[in-house]
Amino acid sequence: MSIALVWLKRDLRLSDHEPLVLAARTGLPVVLFYCFEDIQLDDPHYEERHWRFVSQSLADIGKKVPTSALWITQGDLTTRLNQLNELHGIGAMFSHQEVGLANTFARDIAVKKWCVQNDVKWQESNYAAVIRGLTNRFEWDKHWDSVMRSPTQDCDLSQINWCQYPLAIEGAQCLNNEVILQHWLPVDNNIGKCSTKALFQQGGESEAWRTLASFFEQRGKSYAYSLSSPSLSQHHCSRLSTYLAWGNLSLRQVYQFLLQHWQVPGWRRSLIALSSRLHWHCHFIQKFESESRMEFEPVNIGYQDLPRSSGNIQQQHLAAWKSGQTGYPMVDACMRCLHATGYINFRMRAMLVSFLCHHLAIDWRLGVKHLASLFLDFEPGIHYSQFQMQAGITGINTIRIYNPVKQGEEKDPKGDFVRAWIPELNEVPSELIHTPWQLSSMEQMMYGVSIGETYPAPIVDIKKSYKDAQQLLWSWLNKPIVKVEAQRLLARHVRPSN
Ligand SMILES: Cc1cc2nc3c(=O)[nH]c(=O)nc-3n(C[C@H](O)[C@H](O)[C@H](O)COP(=O)(O)OP(=O)(O)OC[C@H]3O[C@@H](n4cnc5c(N)ncnc54)[C@H](O)[C@@H]3O)c2cc1C
Repeated sequence: MSIALVWLKRDLRLSDHEPLVLAARTGLPVVLFYCFEDIQLDDPHYEERHWRFVSQSLADIGKKVPTSALWITQGDLTTRLNQLNELHGIGAMFSHQEVGLANTFARDIAVKKWCVQNDVKWQESNYAAVIRGLTNRFEWDKHWDSVMRSPTQDCDLSQINWCQYPLAIEGAQCLNNEVILQHWLPVDNNIGKCSTKALFQQGGESEAWRTLASFFEQRGKSYAYSLSSPSLSQHHCSRLSTYLAWGNLSLRQVYQFLLQHWQVPGWRRSLIALSSRLHWHCHFIQKFESESRMEFEPVNIGYQDLPRSSGNIQQQHLAAWKSGQTGYPMVDACMRCLHATGYINFRMRAMLVSFLCHHLAIDWRLGVKHLASLFLDFEPGIHYSQFQMQAGITGINTIRIYNPVKQGEEKDPKGDFVRAWIPELNEVPSELIHTPWQLSSMEQMMYGVSIGETYPAPIVDIKKSYKDAQQLLWSWLNKPIVKVEAQRLLARHVRPSN
């Protein structure tokens, strides 16, 4: 008797899951399969935090299906498929399409070849509203709407013919789910007074629904007014990005939940703001799908030779940025917050990239993987598109060079966010918390900080770096190749309504 295999990737849920519905329809014993792949475990875009989240998600799935129906393994994907096929026979395989990095694309090609060689039928379902091989955006908005408003793909879990016999395979690196999950599940490390468990969002469909419900119960009412504050956004933003990135929720489930609340009085402004962002989600992933070389080079090829910093100074600046030691409290607090929690809001992500690429004039490629590895919600399509936009190398988006002092004074006026992540500045009064280098020696003594010793002096003069970056980027916009590329990008990626 062969099995129907549901290959789980970034779709770690049991509801609105077309591959599961299709597998159930075959009548064959259904097996859910997840592989911690070597190519991803070794990939610098990812860190342990991501695999812990995946493990939590799988553990949640494991509570809802028989143990014998979930096979979690590690290693090379086609090797594992081969072992499974030889022992149990894969009658059919179902999965979602993945809009991922070049390494998962290459793996998909290898899997396709393996399926052909082994006569295994592999059916892929679309990922949200993203269309493979799309060359323009005519009608794309309509497509988005029709996908998001169509019924979710659910099946009664109790009616599925789940595989009832054990699937452990001799020779596979990890033989049972418990072993592999225990490897990644949270170690209760203490960071200050909080445990890592408390600081990172927890994976799993159940947790995802709790987060979604809590947003619409109360948290989201002031969403539109809290988006750009690093502190308020932690609570009032939806915090759904990680659940969407790893597929604990589908975008359609979130959008339909939003539509159910559309008429609730007092919420309209926040719901409009959220709805726009849910549209952006697929828009950016579609962009990456259609232009995946942006993982390696500027989407606008005219920026390939943009002069960038190099040598020792670049190395020192990059290390300071990565570790939150630039001497600019807002930049450092955001980076340290990311290290500890895996989350920061949109505006602060944009500021971090702006500081790296504009004030430090460092090539975007040297920072993009670092932030990916810190963002628990790392989603290749959104991340690469947004990173390049904020780095000012698309030729079609407004260039924004954020001033970290101004951002601090506006978005963290009392300095609470800075104090939470930079204990060295704990005693510094609000008026000076974003410019601690202005403290006199006497004040430094009074407030228990020594600039250049306990907290760094600014690594760059932002007045000068602002001028330099502005001059460079505006002059670059006029290059003929940049203009030609900009026209190409507009024709390919811009939705006609925009
Ligand atoms: C440099 C940079 C890198 C980014 N990398 C990622 C990433 O790897 N993964 C990721 O999910 N988001 C990324 N974003 C977008 C955005 O910052 C996050 O989606 C958002 O902060 C997540 O918080 P939230 O779920 O509370 O969002 P909310 O504000 O509540 O928005 C709801 C959902 O809409 C989507 N969304 C929100 N903002 C955007 C946006 N600007 N573009 C596309 N979709 C959006 C997300 O799925 C989000 O969960 C990046 C932004 C920047 C500037």
